[in-house]
Amino acid sequence: MDAGKTTTSEHMLNLCGASKSVGRVDTGDTVMDFLPQERERGITIQSAAISMQWKEHTINLIDTPGHVDFTVEVERCARVLDGVVVVIDAVSGVQAQTRTVWKQTQRRNLPAVVFVNKMDRTGASFSRTLDSARTKLSANTVALQLPIGSEENFDGVVDLVSMKRIEWQDSGEKHKPRVVESELKEESPLYKEAMEARRDLMESLAECDELFMEAYLEAQDGGGDITSSVNMEDLTGALRRACLSGALVPAICGASLRGKGVQAVLDSVLSFLPSPLDAPPTTGIHLVNGKSKEISVVNTKDLCLFAFKIVYDQKRGPLVFVRNYSGTLSDRSVLFNTSQGKKERVNQLLLVTADDLDQVKELGPGEVGCLVGLKHTRTGDTLVLDKGPLQSYSLEGLHLPNQVFALSIEPEKSSQQTELEEALYTMCVEDPSLIYEIDEESGQNMIRGLGELHLEIVCDKLKRQHGIEVYTGDAYVAYRETLTEGSLTESFVYDRMIGVKRMYAEVELEVTALGTADDPVILVAEEAKEGLTLDERVSLVEGVQASLLRGPRGFPVVGIQVMVKSVGRDHDTTPGSMRACCALILDSILRGKSQALLEPIMALEVEVPSRCVGDVLSDLTVKRRAQVKDIYNGEEDSRNNSLVLAHAPLAGMLGYATSIRSMTQGEGSFSMEFLRFSEPMDDHSVADALK
Ligand code: GDP
Repeated sequence: MDAGKTTTSEHMLNLCGASKSVGRVDTGDTVMDFLPQERERGITIQSAAISMQWKEHTINLIDTPGHVDFTVEVERCARVLDGVVVVIDAVSGVQAQTRTVWKQTQRRNLPAVVFVNKMDRTGASFSRTLDSARTKLSANTVALQLPIGSEENFDGVVDLVSMKRIEWQDSGEKHKPRVVESELKEESPLYKEAMEARRDLMESLAECDELFMEAYLEAQDGGGDITSSVNMEDLTGALRRACLSGALVPAICGASLRGKGVQAVLDSVLSFLPSPLDAPPTTGIHLVNGKSKEISVVNTKDLCLFAFKIVYDQKRGPLVFVRNYSGTLSDRSVLFNTSQGKKERVNQLLLVTADDLDQVKELGPGEVGCLVGLKHTRTGDTLVLDKGPLQSYSLEGLHLPNQVFALSIEPEKSSQQTELEEALYTMCVEDPSLIYEIDEESGQNMIRGLGELHLEIVCDKLKRQHGIEVYTGDAYVAYRETLTEGSLTESFVYDRMIGVKRMYAEVELEVTALGTADDPVILVAEEAKEGLTLDERVSLVEGVQASLLRGPRGFPVVGIQVMVKSVGRDHDTTPGSMRACCALILDSILRGKSQALLEPIMALEVEVPSRCVGDVLSDLTVKRRAQVKDIYNGEEDSRNNSLVLAHAPLAGMLGYATSIRSMTQGEGSFSMEFLRFSEPMDDHSVADALK
């Protein structure tokens, strides 16, 4: 966070000629962060996807937020990205949140380049920052540059591949220095150091690339100075291979606020990160038989799109951002959403540039664009050509984290309830990690999300974008309900008069504990299917599903299998009476002896000045029931920060942001990610939890 991702992106757009003037985060007029509260808070909440041209290539830039409460944003970006540029602050080094985002990109094996930014700041160090990336990210970083000058006098770099000096001189225009290239002369005081750094680079390369190892050994056999005799193409080719395979992470440095080093970021994207042609093919799964099929940019002509983001536009309705994995989409295509089983019609096809949305006729394979006119598509859906050959395939969807925080909200003016419902509905479409529901018992509006900040921002958006001021209750932990063991079968006869109408159904349900925290599995036994129409079966399953969204204690039920074993009926039986009957049986079983609560356990990374470690540890273990897993002590000569890794129940972590600030005089930071649900809690802690 705050390493300068937005500033760097702005300068990249500017260099590509996509943006007329460089926005400044500090004055709040940047192109990338376009929501008002993003500007105010200075954090990038939503990742904007922007296309830009650099040296006859198109680069699609997706800026990811650093804060872990927006982990879905990172997840969906990682899903469609081919490679990443990791921006690290040259003074603060790798921060706790960088680690969390890095882990997400590494789960997808995305090749990466490191940009060490803010080299102009007092205390900046390229080599120390790379050390911190090696230890804290376990990234095999190699320096491709040697800085010339430091801090205020950071004026250039030596490019260790071409052995050229690249210097920034005043051009008369603020933050747009002129780039001057020259040979690095042997008599230069930097020459020796640069040659040593070049040798380190080559040795790292030889260790992980066999082809380069051969060239390297050959050059060594030829005698002379190895760092001069290996040819530049061999070096660049090997670097690209090593980066694509994930064996190495090339690193460069700059000060993007001053426009220094941003060209090299763009060049390194072209040189070292994969084009869609280099990226591995994606896999489609057959919706019926589960077989997989390779969908590749080169060999498949059949259209296959993945919807990775939806933004509501006042004028145009939902804008669906897609990545095209194969084939060519035209602006008149009729599509089929295989995830929802619905036809979709494209009205307009747009490319997002820094200043505008440009209407285009086609979107080629590997490209990212934005579709207008779709009605049913949600984030994570697959779109193919209607009646085309991929009609029965869908791509792997998004892995969504559990919503472990909940908050009740009410509009200040009760006349705004309908507006509130509509606004929250669109926000849920945009953000799949947000859940909105009206509590059946209390009639309250409930929102569930990933963290305190996540829900705070939802309330902020309601106010700013929709003009709805809300009262909020206390944030609380969203536990899960489950059964601890065994299998219970109960039946019930439902026979009631509702007004003048009689409702009748007799249902037998078997509920089995699965011992996991997975979503419930709902089945209808073969014997029960016989007497039911298809509509009735669907309605029964939906009824059970709906009852399990809210167990007797008000939390979602997980880790069970529900089997409808038999259904008895007469002429007054309706789908409604069957559903009511199921709800009553489930309620009775879930209130029984083997019911249990599961508590969310979080993985925590806390970064604090070493002098505060003692206080932070005792607060974590005594007050917050945390288990400390690892401690990395601060490097001697750096900022002397320590990193504490721990697992802690979420209930103990409410309000941690405030307390870490006060324990560390504002210098500490932390990031927290859902890890798993705990073992069933004992009666004592259940009573505590439900207080
Ligand atoms: P993000 O949160 O990673 O997107 O970071 P921002 O781009 O919003 O930048 C955070 C802060 O760092 C802002 O105040 C920027 O002006 C400042 N900043 C960004 N790049 C540099 C740089 O190269 N040098 C210095 N000194 N400050 C920078």
